[in-house]
Amino acid sequence: MDAMEKIVSLCKRRGFIFPSSEIYGGLNGAWDYGPLGVELKRNLKQAWWDDMVAHHDETATPQGAPQPFGMVGLDSALLMNPKVWEASGHVGGFSDPMVDDRETRARYRADQLAVYALEFIGSDGKLERYDEVLFAAPGELGKSAPAELFEPHRKRIASLQKSKPGKEARPVAVPGALQDEALRARVLAPGASAPGTLTAPRAFNLMFKTHVGALEDNSSVTYLRPETAQGIFVNFKNVTDTARVRVPFGIGQIGKAFRNEINPRNFTFRSREFEQMEIEFFCRPAEAAQWYQYWRERRYRWYLDLGMKQANLHLREHESSELAHYAAGCADVEYDFPFGRSELEGIANRTDFDLRQHSQMSGKDLRFFDDQEPNEDARRFLPHVIEPSAGADRGTLAFLCDAYSEDEVGGEARTVLKLHPRLAPIKAAVFPLVKKDGMPEKALEIYRALKKRWNVYYDEKAAIGRRYRRQDEAGTPFCITVDGDTLSAGSVTVRERDSCQQVRIGVAELASYLGEWLGA
Ligand code: ATP
Repeated sequence: MDAMEKIVSLCKRRGFIFPSSEIYGGLNGAWDYGPLGVELKRNLKQAWWDDMVAHHDETATPQGAPQPFGMVGLDSALLMNPKVWEASGHVGGFSDPMVDDRETRARYRADQLAVYALEFIGSDGKLERYDEVLFAAPGELGKSAPAELFEPHRKRIASLQKSKPGKEARPVAVPGALQDEALRARVLAPGASAPGTLTAPRAFNLMFKTHVGALEDNSSVTYLRPETAQGIFVNFKNVTDTARVRVPFGIGQIGKAFRNEINPRNFTFRSREFEQMEIEFFCRPAEAAQWYQYWRERRYRWYLDLGMKQANLHLREHESSELAHYAAGCADVEYDFPFGRSELEGIANRTDFDLRQHSQMSGKDLRFFDDQEPNEDARRFLPHVIEPSAGADRGTLAFLCDAYSEDEVGGEARTVLKLHPRLAPIKAAVFPLVKKDGMPEKALEIYRALKKRWNVYYDEKAAIGRRYRRQDEAGTPFCITVDGDTLSAGSVTVRERDSCQQVRIGVAELASYLGEWLGA
């Protein structure tokens, strides 16, 4: 099993993540979170909400920020007036180019299907190019490893190689092959029996269309929101009129978003239903560049603070050619997933694009009025926006991948999820060493006292080593064992998950000891 298969299998086996409606064969791009998964994802969202919104101190200047600022929250409806999506550009432009394979009926995002010719390298180092047939493989152009290309075309490439004895084959990217009719006719798609089965790329709108009310005509069409951000923009005036906020300030929102992705893949990484954690941060136009820098760094650091390994986490500034026409800057927080380096979160300087669009479309003046600005000319202005937009499902998957490890304890292999205590689904497990001599009663008493404060778990079944192993797999930071000494001396052992070290703690001190690690 490769690393990703092991994680998917652990998620299924231990109740983190299941395919949606599995008993009916599932639904591509939809996932359900089981008893452990729901706790993990909730903890991630809670950490985001606490750190970004609820516990944000608006009287102090955070590290790296130009000045103090306010943060408030919002929970807007999932269904909105369809004009929102016209103003935002989603009706006209929220599409991916896709190609269909007429033979296999597979559908691909054109930018995620790479096309290669082959180069044969002789022992004398001379190159011979073969491009009568071009080979298509899932992945971004130039990024696929030869193994990924060769997999669906292994037999064909092997037989070509036989006709060129002693020569090693390697792929060379052919940019633009899907867009060029003549080249496309030579492309062999994955699983197809002959070249030329792919259609030309076509724009495919990613929004899920639905109808509101009983009439299914054009007047009742709306969309399941493809992002939470627009709910924030259309409430900008409501919030500034009611919440006594002053620019600069941010509005945070967590909620579901839906995209009819052409090719859902990599477990929950690209789903059709997912959750976003988004901030729209409103500032004066002249200060936008500074705030953009601040949010890039702050959001990158947030993952590190929650224990993500720095070696796996990257902050990538977009090239200017990658930017949307209205954007003044964009950076991605990327994670080294087992399937490759991919986006976890995007931080964009969106200028005043969204507020301007909504002002024009709705006819409402969405400028901010700063009554404390001494310069009268500068009192009314359209703020610029910095948008850190993160995925809760992608975050959960990244933390699962980062935490997954295998080691050996006492000569026995174990799987352990080294999750940060804030994220761990279960904070501590309480065990009686044996099911007699009053130990279960004492353990239950401890369990009940701790359960009032944290999500703790009681287990008296199986040998103690097995109980430890089960909690290691669930990512539980502490296991508390009641033994003979608990009854005579009033102390328990507390075993720490990662080091497996055990300390003896008095029962009376247990809650404050755990509190140091677990927080409130
Ligand atoms: P991608 O390029 O991967 O399609 P994007 O750039 O379109 O992503 P944004 O529109 O910037 O993504 O969305 C912000 C965040 O929402 C992403 O960083 C990601 O965490 C999350 N997200 C977007 N699409 C999906 C999806 N299909 N499944 C899960 N999470 C998603």
